[in-house]
This record gives sequence, structure tokens and C-alpha cells, in this order.
Amino acid sequence: MNTKITAISTDIVDIPLRRAHQFSAAKMNAKPLLIIQIETSEGVTGIGEGTTPGIWWGGESVETMRLVIEKYFAPLLIGEDPSYIEALLTKMDRQVLGNEFAKATVEMALYDIVGKLANVPVSQLFGGVVRDGIPVRWALAAGSIEADIAEGKDKVKKREHHNFKMKAGAIPTVDDIKRVIEVSKGLEGVTTTGVDPNGSWDELTTLRWMDQLAEAKVDFLEQPLPKWDFAGLARLKATRKVPIMADESASTVQDALKLVEMDAVDIFSLKIHKSGGMSRVKKIAAIAEAAGIPCFGGTSLESSIGTAACLHVYSTLPNLTEDCELFGPIWMADDIVEEPVVFKNEKVYVPQKPGLGVTLDMEKIKKYRRDK
Ligand SMILES: [Mg+2]
Repeated sequence: MNTKITAISTDIVDIPLRRAHQFSAAKMNAKPLLIIQIETSEGVTGIGEGTTPGIWWGGESVETMRLVIEKYFAPLLIGEDPSYIEALLTKMDRQVLGNEFAKATVEMALYDIVGKLANVPVSQLFGGVVRDGIPVRWALAAGSIEADIAEGKDKVKKREHHNFKMKAGAIPTVDDIKRVIEVSKGLEGVTTTGVDPNGSWDELTTLRWMDQLAEAKVDFLEQPLPKWDFAGLARLKATRKVPIMADESASTVQDALKLVEMDAVDIFSLKIHKSGGMSRVKKIAAIAEAAGIPCFGGTSLESSIGTAACLHVYSTLPNLTEDCELFGPIWMADDIVEEPVVFKNEKVYVPQKPGLGVTLDMEKIKKYRRDK
């Protein structure tokens, strides 16, 4: 049997959000997603989702992903056997520098095809699950201290989430840190929160406030400093006050090794898109495992498609012990698959059906599709 890729198509959809989301650089009201469908000679179609927090995060957007996939990747992939995933990733790497989000989107659809052809969930292609559900942190990003505290308490009471992370970075570092401490103290006795300023805090101010952040029992500082500042992360880690999580800094397999060598990280935040695919997340997690570093299941705020892909790899990682933030499907006001991934008792569960285990709802694609 020799399966071939016969066609590749893309759609951009804009999914409304339940509430606006304040990042360090942008406020968002709807989530753009790039949906890819890869057809094969066996009649099996693989689906993938490309999405980013925004072009400010990693330099890619749904529009750049679509262009790169249609113009550069499709001609490389048509006629190839979709099961040679590592070889196809190498081929894409040789032809197109960077553009990891676009590569991850293609790889997701390839794994969906291979899982469907083998009649197994993608998690089995990565070694099988070590846990079938992962606790989910919710992001407090409502935009005010009172609203963040109220939202945290409400979600704990309803048993939707048991801990949180705060988005930060939209205001000067010192004001932001005071805000984080107030929210953390406001939640004391009920729950705890980490904080993610997306690389926008300055090192000196952060160093000055490490004692107070520790006293306020902040769970972790996720990417407090810019993506390139590995040495700064190492100096913050050396204070041993609050665990340092690397997100933007830990994008590639090579980044992961360098962070370990520089002793710059306590926790790795994993993400499929920033790393160029599920198989690369597995490699990064292996580097972390070899260094005795735990992982956190990060998100680019995916629908059920990308969330399923994350779950199929995260669930196979013995050292993913710091929970996850895969709340994308319940943050958006609608989903685009027939059976969304399941959230229950503060956890999200790995789909069991073959491939990614989710099926596109074409009515929803039609409803939210952006005109070209
Ligand atoms: Mg982050």
C-alpha cells in the first residue's frame, strides 16, 4: 500500500470569544484559526489547526501560515506518502526557514492521517498515554484586579479549575508586579496563580520584587523576560524564590538544550505550534526529562482540533507534571468539531477515536469562514 497526498486546502475562521482576553501586547475579541485539510489517495482526510496568540507572539499569523502552506509547502507535499512525517518535516525545514506554526499545522494533519490509517489514536503513535486527563489552569485576563479575583474564586467554587495563571505585561513592570501580588493575596486560602507577562518585565525590577512575589505565593513566573534573554532567566532562577518557566525562550529543541545548559529554567512550557510540531514537543520533553525538569502543557489557544493534538502528545509525557492550560475550547464561544474535547472535574481528556479523534463540523466552518 502506498498512500499519497492528493490535495491540500485551507480555511481561515474567526471564532467569537466568551470574554475579551488581555495579553501584554493586544486585546482580543475573536480567535482566528487556520484549518487545513490534507486529502489522500486512500480517501482518508487529515485535519490540522494553525493558530497563534497573535503575530506579536512569534512573528506568524493565520494569514502568514496560509500563504506559506499554500505557496511553499503544498507543492512539496503533493504526491508524497503522508506517513513519512519526519522526512517531510526535514524537507519543509530545508525549503523554508522558521515558520514553525505553519509546519506544526501540516504535521498535525499528517498525524491525523497516519492515526486514521492505522486505526489508533495519535497518542499511541507517541508511545501511549501515561494519563488520560490533565488538570487545566484557567487564565485570569479579565482586565481588573477585582474581576480577576472574583473569576478565580467563582471557577474554584464551580470546580471548573483548581488553579490559575494571570496574563500580565500590559503596564509598567512595577505596577504589574503589585497587581499580581494583590490578585495572588486576594485568592489566598482558595487557590493559587502563576503569572505570564509574555517577556515584557524588566530584570532589575523583577529581581527587586522576587521576595514579595514569593511571599504572595505566586506559583511561577512564566517568561518574565524577553525571549532572547536566557542569561536573565538564569539570574532570576538563581534567586530560588519563585520557579521560572520558559515559554517563548523554549521554542525549539536547540533552545531547550541551551536553557538546560545555562541552568535558566525550572519548568518548560510546551507548545506544538512554537516548536514546529508534536514530534518536536516530544523531543523537547525528553531533554527536560534528562535534566530532571518538569513540563507544563502550554496552549496557543486552540479549538478542539489543536487541543486534541496537544493532548495526544502531552498525555504521553511522564514529566508533564505541572498540569496544562488547554482551555481554548471553553474560552471560545463555539467550537468547529462535531464532538468537542471533554472538560470534566477540572481536567481535559484525551480523545479516544483514531487519528486526532475529532471531526470537522462543516456547517460551523461555513458559518465562521473569512472571505479570502
Ligand atoms: Mg506563555
